[in-house]
Amino acid sequence: MNSNSGIKNLSLKSILHNDSFVLWNISVVSPNKSIENAFVAISNGKIINIGSLQDYNKSANYADWPKIELENYILAPGFINAHTHVAMSAFQNLCYYSDLNWQRVFKKESKINSNNIEALSNPSIYSAVRSGVVGFVDHYYFSSSVGKAFDKWGVKALIGESIADQGGAFPNNQSFERAKEQLNWTAKNCSSNIQNILCPHASDTVSKQLFKKILDLSKSENLGLHYHLAQSKKEYDYAKKEYGKTPTEYLNNLGLITDQTLAVHCLFLEETDFKILKSQGAMVGVCPLSQMSFEKLVDLKTIMNLNIPWSLGTDAVGFNDHMDIIEEMRICSIMSKELNLEKDFHLQALSAATKNLAKYFNLKQKWNFSGTLEEGDSADCIFIKKDMRIAPITDLKKTLVYSVNSSHIQHVMVNGDWVLFDQKPVKVSEEEMEKDYQLACKVIL
Ligand SMILES: [Zn+2]
Repeated sequence: MNSNSGIKNLSLKSILHNDSFVLWNISVVSPNKSIENAFVAISNGKIINIGSLQDYNKSANYADWPKIELENYILAPGFINAHTHVAMSAFQNLCYYSDLNWQRVFKKESKINSNNIEALSNPSIYSAVRSGVVGFVDHYYFSSSVGKAFDKWGVKALIGESIADQGGAFPNNQSFERAKEQLNWTAKNCSSNIQNILCPHASDTVSKQLFKKILDLSKSENLGLHYHLAQSKKEYDYAKKEYGKTPTEYLNNLGLITDQTLAVHCLFLEETDFKILKSQGAMVGVCPLSQMSFEKLVDLKTIMNLNIPWSLGTDAVGFNDHMDIIEEMRICSIMSKELNLEKDFHLQALSAATKNLAKYFNLKQKWNFSGTLEEGDSADCIFIKKDMRIAPITDLKKTLVYSVNSSHIQHVMVNGDWVLFDQKPVKVSEEEMEKDYQLACKVIL
């Protein structure tokens, strides 16, 4: 059916979480589908049906729901940013290349506390949501307060306290105690959008004794792990000197490399290390811009050859002043020729920003999120405005990866609720965020 009959004037802006409506004549793209002239029936925050207008069933129960004509939009799944430290918003321009000075970073971090961290998190969350991110995997100090910030925005996040006892801004056992406290705190104080993950910082900043406690906790609480692995030559050299092993071998011997491990960066890996990740079923977190400005790009060719699961992240302001996940998809897709990767690598990049992490951490069960816009998914999606800058559209997936940028993302919906409308936050006040952030910056600068 191609007629527009039955369209009622429900405005997009007026949509509420518990409404039932049909997005009409919209283009739909996800890693698994490209549909021009599609309909998407949504009710109580969930996708009920999705398909081509040609297949629209006039006798379906949603046939009487209000239809919203959206010929000028592309609907895509919201992205998941697989590695962030959103509270580092104020670390702009601090860590690039020759300017990198960890003591300056730690000095700033030592002034961060549970009172100012929420304010410090907001600019990075804003920047990420503007690029279509609906879910985060975040790793930082005072993570309960970071979780509060995510929850106020209405986005989804796996959060974890950075645990370290021999490096970083707070090198002591308190981070493990805070991590344990956070587990209950999240369950009591946050919506189901916010869930826990355990975050030891890295192989050179956590003692063997503490790693063992973290592993026990992850087993007893059935929690995934999210940490930096072999992110610097320094970390690699430290493990070789201290343990006679690579960081990957060392952590594998401790039992920390599992099929619920998101190991981020993985820049200094031997061939045997990649095989360990593959055999243990670990996922690699790839942050192209951060890695290239900090050290070098991870060996994507080996990851692809061994078919190791991977996901895309931005890392933090400081290592990558943008929190723009579309930019990361585009950069690694453009580099694919240089890296001698497969021809249609943009499809891999799109999956790495959407469905790979959803599948790996079973986000379908946690959040009803598959990253592919399936029936039964929660309505976690982005509305991309078509304009002449991305016209003519001949291939929706290529358009999404190569042509769209965050300025095209007009609205973002999570659980059928707006979190961004007309590029402005809906659930949080921009003015208040700005004021609180400026105050917090004064404390830590
Ligand atoms: Zn990081």
